[in-house]
Order: sequence, then structure tokens, then C-alpha cells
Amino acid sequence: TPGLYIVATPIGNLGDITLRAVDILSRCDGVACEDTRVTGKLLKHLGISKPMWRYDDHSEERDRARLVESMRTRAVALVSDAGTPLVSDPGYRLVNDARSEGISITSVPGACAFVTGLTLSGLPNDRFMFAGFLPQKDKARRDMLEELAGIDATLVFYETGPRLVKSLIAIDDVLPNREVAVARELTKLHEECRRALPSGLIAWYESRPPKGEIVLLVGPPPEEAPREGDAEDMLVRALTTMKTSQAASE
Ligand code: SAM
Repeated sequence: TPGLYIVATPIGNLGDITLRAVDILSRCDGVACEDTRVTGKLLKHLGISKPMWRYDDHSEERDRARLVESMRTRAVALVSDAGTPLVSDPGYRLVNDARSEGISITSVPGACAFVTGLTLSGLPNDRFMFAGFLPQKDKARRDMLEELAGIDATLVFYETGPRLVKSLIAIDDVLPNREVAVARELTKLHEECRRALPSGLIAWYESRPPKGEIVLLVGPPPEEAPREGDAEDMLVRALTTMKTSQAASE
């Protein structure tokens, strides 16, 4: 059926492609992708041959409009180099435009690095905030961490090997008491997940410059110990409740 199919692909381990992704990629009319070489390799591995069009959100407005228009009669799969399209990857504008043009859209879920890192880290995941990549400039990076510091949730970032230590140093400055996890090379041969206070991780990675792709997680703010006044309040409230229920039963 014509329309747009947002198709997640593996983040390292090719075994993570889904049956549905293979089915859609085999049956679609063409694949819009970030890099035709990367997607070409994946399709070849799957034994699929399809026309490919390079797409990113900075493509000319006209090209995007033409691609969206083609979805009225053709099934177009959108993939990125790895993982779920739109998640720190191109596709947002395409999906937004396709939606306002009334094109039929389906999302085919699959691998996503931040979900994989979050589950592997064992950090609280009942509330988390995915914040993409930290800015590259020192001041902007610090400003962003300060902005996020008050959020009562695990913070999740995308990171690269060469920038990891700089980010850890900034986290140590702004959020020194928060547990941090470094989830690296997920689903690949050298997958690792290391969890400690930022100072400990700085020491570790400074002497072992990390390679590869990283999900960086910062645990939620530690729960505040109740202050003395709070304990007193609680005691008075408990005693009052006891007295009231006693009076009621008499
Ligand atoms: N769309 C992708 C997804 O669904 O996760 C993310 C694309 S983003 C341009 C690339 C970043 O994702 C990397 O710098 C890294 O932070 C993270 N990433 C991707 N694959 C990863 C992996 N196998 N292990 C750890 N992090 C990964």
C-alpha cells in the first residue's frame, strides 16, 4: 500500500532487524535513507535490491515535497544509518510534512540505542528524559546540564568516544553526586556498561580512551534525607491520628 513506512534498523547487531522490517523493505517501492552506502550494505545483507534516495531534514524543501507527493502512489520506507529514524536522526520534517499532506504513515519499531542503554544500566527508568547529544562547546554543555539538573528523572544522552571524558568532567562539576552509566558498543561484540560516580568514570576512561558509540546516563537526584523538623512534624501528625482514632473507638 502506498505511504510512508518508518523502519527501524539494527544499531550494530544485524540479528536485530525485525521480520516486519524485512517484509516492508522487500515489498516497498524505494528506500529514503541517510547514506546510500550504509543502507546499501544492509539491503545487500538481506538480499534486497531497491532504489534508494538520499534524504536528510536539510534536503531542499522542493525535494522533500516531491518525495512526499510520491507517497500517494508509492510505498516509501524511511531508514537511518542505525536504529530508529527521527531519534537524533533525520525524518522529523518528512513525517511532519507527510502527515499534513494526509499521507498514510506507519512506524515499524525496532532497535533504539537509548532504550537499550536505559534498560541495561539498571538506573531508575520509571521516569527518564532523553536529551539527545550534549552541546560541543563547554559553556553550552554546562548550561544544558544546569537546566536539566532539577529534573527528577534519569537523564539520557547520546555521546561519542572522543567526547566522553569532557562530558563526564562537566557532569562531575554540575551533578557530582549522581550515579552515571556509560553504555558502549551496544549489541556489538565489545558491549559494555560501566556504572559509578562521575569522578570514578573520569579516572577509568582517561586512562582508557573509549572507542565507539555511547549512551550516557545520569541517575535521578538522590532522595533528600528528611530534615529534623520534618521528622518532628511526622511524629506529631502520627500521634494526632492515633489520638483521633482512639477517641472515635471510645
Ligand atoms: N537513531 C539512532 C537510535 O535509534 O538510537 C541514534 C542515531 S545517533 C546519530 C547516533 C548515536 O546513537 C551515537 O553517537 C550513540 O550515542 C548512539 N548509538 C547508536 N548505536 C549505538 C550503540 N550500538 N551503542 C551505544 N550507543 C549507540
